Amino acid sequence: MNIEVVRTTSPRPRPEPGKLGFGVHFSDHMFVMEYTTENGWHSPRIEAYGPIQMEPGASVLHYAQAIFEGLKAFRGADERVNLFRPQQHAARFHRSAERLCMPPVPEDVFVEACRKLVSVDESWVPSEDGAALYLRPLTIATESFLGVRPSAAYKFIIMTCPVGAYYAEGFNPVRIRVERERVRAVRGGVGDAKTAGNYAASLRAAKEAKADGYAQVLWTDAATHSFVEEVGTMNVFFKIGDEVITPSLDGAILPGITRRSVIELLESRGTTVTERRVSLDEIVKAHTDGRLEEAFGTGTAAVVSPIKALGVDGKDLTIGDGGVGPMAQSLFDEIAGIQRGTREDRFHWLVPAEG
Ligand SMILES: *Cc1c(COP(=O)(O)O)cnc(C)c1O
Repeated sequence: MNIEVVRTTSPRPRPEPGKLGFGVHFSDHMFVMEYTTENGWHSPRIEAYGPIQMEPGASVLHYAQAIFEGLKAFRGADERVNLFRPQQHAARFHRSAERLCMPPVPEDVFVEACRKLVSVDESWVPSEDGAALYLRPLTIATESFLGVRPSAAYKFIIMTCPVGAYYAEGFNPVRIRVERERVRAVRGGVGDAKTAGNYAASLRAAKEAKADGYAQVLWTDAATHSFVEEVGTMNVFFKIGDEVITPSLDGAILPGITRRSVIELLESRGTTVTERRVSLDEIVKAHTDGRLEEAFGTGTAAVVSPIKALGVDGKDLTIGDGGVGPMAQSLFDEIAGIQRGTREDRFHWLVPAEG
C-alpha cells in the first residue's frame, strides 16, 4: 500500500510529561482513507490531525454505524517503539465491521497504517515508565441519506494520543457495583463488537454507580441478571480457591485482547483459566466461604485493574484484604514489562513501528 504522507505545517502544542492524562492530547497526524462501493478502500494518507468534513445527513450520526479499536505503542528501554498485538486488534476490527455491515479494512492494511502513523509521530511516543501512545482507529458511515440500510460510503481514521501511566501512583484497587437492572448488551445484539452504541448504552448505569462512589459497574446478563459478564471497559477475572475463572464469550461480552493475553500468560505458567458462566450466587457464596481471593479487570488502558470490593444489592463484599492480590500484581508486572521491553517478549506480542 502506498501511503501518502503530508506533514503538518503547524505542529500541535506538546503536553507536559507527567501530565498526559488519557485521550486529551492528540498528536500531530492522523491516518485517513475512504471507501465507496465503486472504488473500495482508497486514498490512504497521513495528514495533519484536524476536523473532518461530513454532511449532517451522514448515516453514522443517525444510526450509529461506527466501530473502533484501542491499542498502544510503547517506547522500550532501548528507545525503540513497538506496538502491542496489532494483528489481534486488526482481526477484531474486521469482526466488528462484519457485525455492523461495514466493509472491513484488510487486516494487513490496518497494521501497516498503525505502524506508519506511529513512525511519523514517533516523537509523540512518551518515554516515562508506563506511558504510551494510544491509537484510536475508527470506521464511520459517511453516506448522506436518511433511509435505514448500510451506508455505501465510509471513512477509516486513526488518531493517536500520548497517554500517561495508569498507575503513576501505584495500583489503585477499585469498588465496582454489580448492575442488576440496566443492560449494556444482550446475546444476539452487538455486545461482542467494539461499536460506539454500546458505550452510549452504558453511560447511565456508570453515572449512577459513580454517584454512589463506585468506579464502574459489573454487568450481569440481560435475560436473568444472575450471571456476571464484564466491567465497563474491561473483562473480568475471579480467583476462587485454586480456580481462575473468566466469563465465557457468549456473544454479549467484548473479546478483550488483554483478556486473551492474561489467559495465555497464566496457561504458560501452568495455571488453567476456566472460561465458563459465572453466577453472582457463586461469587457471593465464595466470598462467604472465604474463597474469593482475587477479582480484577483487564483492558488495554489499565492492563490489570484490581477490584477491592463488589457492591451487591446495596452491600459491599470486600475481596481478599481489599489490597492488590499476588496474581493481579504478577500479571501486571509481566505484561507491562513485555510492553516496556524489560521482560522477555516470549509470546512475540510486540511489533516494531517502522524505522
Ligand atoms: C475494549 C473493551 C474491552 C477491553 O479489550 P482490550 O482489547 O483488552 O482492550 C473490554 N470491554 C469492552 C466493552 C471494551 O470495549
